Order: sequence, then structure tokens, then C-alpha cells
Amino acid sequence: MQQDADAMRRAVEALRRGEAIGLPTETVYGLAANAWDEAACRRIFAIKGRPATNPLIVHVADRSRLGEGAEIPASGPVRERLEQVADLWPGPLTLILPKGQNVPSIVTAGRPTVAIRIPAHPVALELLACLPFPLAAPSANRSTAVSPTSAADVREELGDRIDVILDGGPCRYGLESTIVSLVDPDGPLLLRHGALSAEFLANRWRMPLSLLLRSGAIRPSSEGHAPPSDVPAAKSGVVGAAAPGQMRLHYAPRTPVWLADDPRLPSERRGRWGRIRFREATSSGGMPVDADRTYAETRVLSHDGDPVEIAASLYATLRELDHRMLEGIVVDTCAEAGIGRAVMDRLRRASANHGAS
Ligand code: AMP
Ligand code: MG
Repeated sequence: MQQDADAMRRAVEALRRGEAIGLPTETVYGLAANAWDEAACRRIFAIKGRPATNPLIVHVADRSRLGEGAEIPASGPVRERLEQVADLWPGPLTLILPKGQNVPSIVTAGRPTVAIRIPAHPVALELLACLPFPLAAPSANRSTAVSPTSAADVREELGDRIDVILDGGPCRYGLESTIVSLVDPDGPLLLRHGALSAEFLANRWRMPLSLLLRSGAIRPSSEGHAPPSDVPAAKSGVVGAAAPGQMRLHYAPRTPVWLADDPRLPSERRGRWGRIRFREATSSGGMPVDADRTYAETRVLSHDGDPVEIAASLYATLRELDHRMLEGIVVDTCAEAGIGRAVMDRLRRASANHGAS
């Protein structure tokens, strides 16, 4: 979607004044502010109600400006790992690198490392090219809520708190970036599943998938939303022991979300319920399956269960059903492979109020 020149000018002016704005990216919409301006970044945390322990991702305009966020040149092994994925930028890949001096510690929650990426959205890239500083931008939702995938979603979440929201149309991936640390001595370490699959990245670094996904004991997060300590990492769906801010309850609408295979799902549902299917479920006659008649609202995310299509519309559908006064939303599960890993990660967190899986 073409962004009109007037909106772009207002965004640049607001950012130069130290304000935060709504920004389209190819993953989800961001709440962006000058990453070099400590007060502006503090505003991001306040607007979102985000715990100060949860660091922000820094967005830069292009490879030549990576040094605005990270310490460049990086050391030998880090530089090598970076080169192996350099062509994936702009794109939905966030890398953890040593922090550059200009980035205030509020951005990294006091860490010596910084999360950094180049977004692949024409509006974000045009804006970044107009600015003399990088942008810190977490998703433009209130903390723990569903990430916004359209400008209207941002207005709904934060319209009363920010003045400028750039409209770049619906997000192509509809799911956050994949985060990989490049500073671990044992090689690239996946910290968050996302729009780029772990399988694809492991192949790029020519490493076994299990090594990219390795994780030690889960460290309880200081937000108090840590996964229970008796749940092994693989089972809880939580990857990356070193990833801060990966809260157990996250990406959640106000309406309770249930995984369709949760044994605790009430068999007698009272009131109006919603159902999100990942593929068309029809009887032999092509009619909706009987079970769906018991739901007040049913949505099908992909005719034939394509995981990319499912990911692209999942958040928008959760958000839409959240407005339908439902007692609960029952969502399909999918195979934990490719982008399905990210889909299941988000759904586990969205349904974490039931202590499911
Ligand atoms: P988002 O809320 O999508 O902006 O995601 C930001 C996430 O990036 C955080 O919740 C962390 O999990 C991760 N992150 C940011 N900075 C760092 C860092 N320095 N080290 C490890 N993970 C980070
Ligand atoms: Mg977020």
C-alpha cells in the first residue's frame, strides 16, 4: 500500500520529537521510537505496559547502517555467522549481536547484546531511510495481548495513546520475526520461533536442527509468567533458555483460548463459543461437520491447511472473534514443523490461562 507523503512527513516529525508511532512491517505492526533516545524508548514501555525486563528489537535501514545498533565489525565467528544469512535481510529474521554504544541500556534491558533486524516492508524501509537514527519497535499492542496485523488493529490497541499510525495494509506474515542469537559460543541459538522456519535457518548455518534449537534449564522470568519449572522446555514449547521476556501468557485475546486437543476442554459448552479451524472440515456431502453447528462462530484459516496461510490470518481472526462476546474460542493445532512451530508456540501462550500443555 502506498503511504501518502503527508503521513510519512508527520511520522518523521513525531519520531524526531521523541514520540512513538505505529509502523507497518512484514511481520506485525510495531510501536516505533528513536532507538538512540532513552526517553522515547521509555515511552514505548509505558504505552505498552511492557515490563522493563523485556528488551526491544532495533530496526535499521540497511546493512551499511547495522553499526547504528550493533557493535560493528563483529568478532570473527559472529561475523561469519552473520555473513551466512546476510541475504535474508530485509526479512523476518532478528539477530542477537553485541550492542553498539549509541543504544541506551533501556532498549536491551541492561544486556550487553542487542536484537536487530532490517524489516522487509516498503513503508518501514522508506521511513528508516528518512531518519538519521534506528528505530526500536516492539509489536504495537498492549503487553501480553494479540499482536496487531493491520493499522486498524493498532488504532484499536493504542489509538488513545499515539497520534501517528502509518498504514501499510495487512502484514504479509502476520507473525513475529524469528530470533536467533549469534553470540552464543556453541553457535547460532534459536530464541523465538517466527516467520522464518527453524529448519530453513539450520540448513543455512549447515548445522543440525537440534543444535539450533538446543536449550538448557529454563530460567524463571522475572515477569512472574515463567513456564512451570517441572515442564521440560520441549513440552512447554518454550525455546531458548536465554531469551528474556518470553512470557508464558502472551498473544492472548480477552476471550479464553482453548487448544482443540486439550483434554480439559469442557465437553458441555454453555453459552456462545467460537471455533477456529485450520482447514475446511466437511462431511462427504460438503456440508459443515456436525460439531461445528454447536459453535456460534466458525472461521476457517486455510482451505487446505496451508501453514503459511494459517499463520497470516491467525492473529486477525483471534482479534475478530474477541469482539463476538464468546465464552471461549477453540483452536485447531498443527504439526510442529516449519512455520507450524511458531503457530503452536503462540497458541500455547494464548491458551496458557488454562495451564494447557
Ligand atoms: P517483540 O516483543 O516482538 O519486540 O520481541 C522482542 C523480543 O526479542 C524479546 O521479548 C526478547 O525475547 C528478544 N530480545 C530482544 N533483545 C534481546 C537480547 N538482547 N537478547 C536476547 N533476546 C532479546
Ligand atoms: Mg510483542
